[in-house]
Amino acid sequence: MKSRNLIVILLAVLLLMSFVPGCRDNSTPNPDDLERHERTFFVMDTMVDVILWTAKDRSEVADIFSQVDDELQRLHAIFSAFEDDSDVAKISDAAGIEPVQVQPETLEVIQAALDYADMTDGKFDITLAPVLRLYTFGEDARVPTQQEIDEKLPLVDYSLVEVDMQAGTVFLPQPGMRLDLGGIAKGYVVDVATDMLRDLGVETGVVNAGGDISFVGPKYDGTPWRIGIKDPTRHRTHQFAVIELEGGAIVTSGDYERYVEQDGVRYHHIIDPADGQPARSCKSVTIVAPNAMLADLLSTAVFVMGPEAGMALVESLEGVEALIWDAQDQVHASSGLDWEDRR
Ligand code: AMP
Ligand code: MG
Repeated sequence: MKSRNLIVILLAVLLLMSFVPGCRDNSTPNPDDLERHERTFFVMDTMVDVILWTAKDRSEVADIFSQVDDELQRLHAIFSAFEDDSDVAKISDAAGIEPVQVQPETLEVIQAALDYADMTDGKFDITLAPVLRLYTFGEDARVPTQQEIDEKLPLVDYSLVEVDMQAGTVFLPQPGMRLDLGGIAKGYVVDVATDMLRDLGVETGVVNAGGDISFVGPKYDGTPWRIGIKDPTRHRTHQFAVIELEGGAIVTSGDYERYVEQDGVRYHHIIDPADGQPARSCKSVTIVAPNAMLADLLSTAVFVMGPEAGMALVESLEGVEALIWDAQDQVHASSGLDWEDRR
């Protein structure tokens, strides 16, 4: 037989196989078999919205949601800066006194934060808490004076944090030092939920913690996930971009998320460790990364680093992309980002 005929026969067989249900690729579920289920959890001051498309029955799904809930509440109790017996609070309360034994998850997140802090030239700093605590948003909003900030800045230095992986302890050597994992823990929690859903056999789904988004497998109908990115100057009503993804994670940090305005100036929640002031060179930073913890950390870090240094860091990292809206309302996209400009 001529090799061309052979190729035609092979193609015909492949085409036929794609119509036979039993021959479907296992990784692509049949959309007709999947039912949508949604549940919202409240952890770490955020609504975590989980949407699944699965062939599992109602009681199996209820069981999966209850396992996810238990795990999210457990992690909340470990990471929250405001729960007295969280690992984060215990480490902070023992600053200058003694190392504290913590959960493996705490060690993992702190070590990742410290590893990346070096790459961000110290712009991402989990010891910023004494300064962060001076700012309050919402009802009793308050902007600290530079003098108050300057009194706390000497306590901010991630390079002093001592992590002992063997002993399972973390130590802050100076009295008054404190930890805040607000720029990274949400992403970690989203990853844990996503991994859990995947391990429990969920075919496809989304975990969304207030804009920290991660995907369980490809979308139910085989098309890419489409994520709208808020216009930071009109965040309630407008999106300025759409990013299509097959999986992984996407996280946005914006100056519109938590802020207080005073004398016409916006004071928001992403702070430059150099002077304790809100970072001024970006309005929004979106990061695409293989996991939500990295995307979360980098969205905060790049926001502080600014478009130039931030984009250079993003370009140096494998599998990481960024879309930055800067203070002059210019938009910068990393070289490998696939995005639709809606401006
Ligand atoms: P995100 O909304 O992910 O950008 O995270 C912002 C949160 O990260 C803030 O609410 C603080 O808890 C924390 N944070 C703010 N500035 C920094 C910084 N320079 N380094 C590390 N964490 C920060
Ligand atoms: Mg972040």
